[in-house]
Amino acid sequence: MNNIKESVNKFGYINEKIDSSIDLPKEISKLKKEKNAVILAHFYQRPEIQEIADFVGDSLKLSQLAAETDADIIVFAGVHFMAETAKTLSPEKKVLLPDLNAGCSLADSIQVEDFKKFKEKYPDYTVVSYVNTTSEIKAMSDIVCTSSNALKIIESLGKDEKIIFTPDKNLGGYIKNLTKREDMIVWDGACHVHDGFSLEAFKKLQKQHPDAHLVAHPEAPKEVVLQAEYVGSTAGLLKYVTESNANEFIVATEEGIIYQMEKANPNKKFYNFSDKCVCGFCEYMKEITLEKLYLSLKYEAPEILLSDELIKAAYKPIKRMLDISAKYNL
Ligand code: 13P
Ligand code: SF4
Repeated sequence: MNNIKESVNKFGYINEKIDSSIDLPKEISKLKKEKNAVILAHFYQRPEIQEIADFVGDSLKLSQLAAETDADIIVFAGVHFMAETAKTLSPEKKVLLPDLNAGCSLADSIQVEDFKKFKEKYPDYTVVSYVNTTSEIKAMSDIVCTSSNALKIIESLGKDEKIIFTPDKNLGGYIKNLTKREDMIVWDGACHVHDGFSLEAFKKLQKQHPDAHLVAHPEAPKEVVLQAEYVGSTAGLLKYVTESNANEFIVATEEGIIYQMEKANPNKKFYNFSDKCVCGFCEYMKEITLEKLYLSLKYEAPEILLSDELIKAAYKPIKRMLDISAKYNL
């Protein structure tokens, strides 16, 4: 077990050579049953991970599932903040993240010390934090939101309530514009993948595919979002392209979602920005591989550990979000 600890400390994952004759999906299924484990995967995961997962979803769905599951172990095929949210909602369960290097540039764009100072300047503001934040930032927030419920969460606050929205400037700006909230200060953070989508890259794609409809995640910049036929979370985008009568789509979000879009719509065509800019690909999400997932489940490491105090503080704003989402059937 010491070797496992050393490997996790050194690499962030279990770095062990796996016999090439091992059928990884089969072994993972076997281990899952033996250990009563569940695999939750985000839409940006590699196709082979999405295939082996028990559930694939957006951030909201995955946190709802993490709160409800009766499994003993949750293996999170996603990024660090998602696994932390799962641990916060199910502290009695073992939550595994197969590679601790699976971070998030958006979550990294707000640091505790900076935010502490910032909050001091606005003591009477309600803090709404996007789920793409660390547990420490959530613990400093009044309510959490995801891209699928951000609008409802902001609308649920009193009209005269003053708001700080962290950390995504694009999602925050989008919601501020929709709700026309004057007293809403938006933190200047961004996701390197979505913020990299440019109008120029979109125009190039549009020239190549003139019949394609643009669908965009609200983490994309305003000038791109303004061109979109539909703006929504990953689950929202998938639903929209599936129900739409259009046959071609330009997709302004991380390319992993296209796997599910093509699966559900084999006759439709989807184009991602990847070849038009240095964007469209989240290297953090792609840190999770079948090999790392197998070893993680086998050795039950790396495990997400949070102090009781932090769990207690981060739970409150997440629970508030889940309650509002349940009220609106989100
Ligand atoms: P969703 O909540 O829409 O799945 O988005 C998560 C994310 O990380 C977007 O970059
Ligand atoms: Fe974070 Fe962006 Fe990756 Fe989503 S796509 S996990 S926001 S870095």
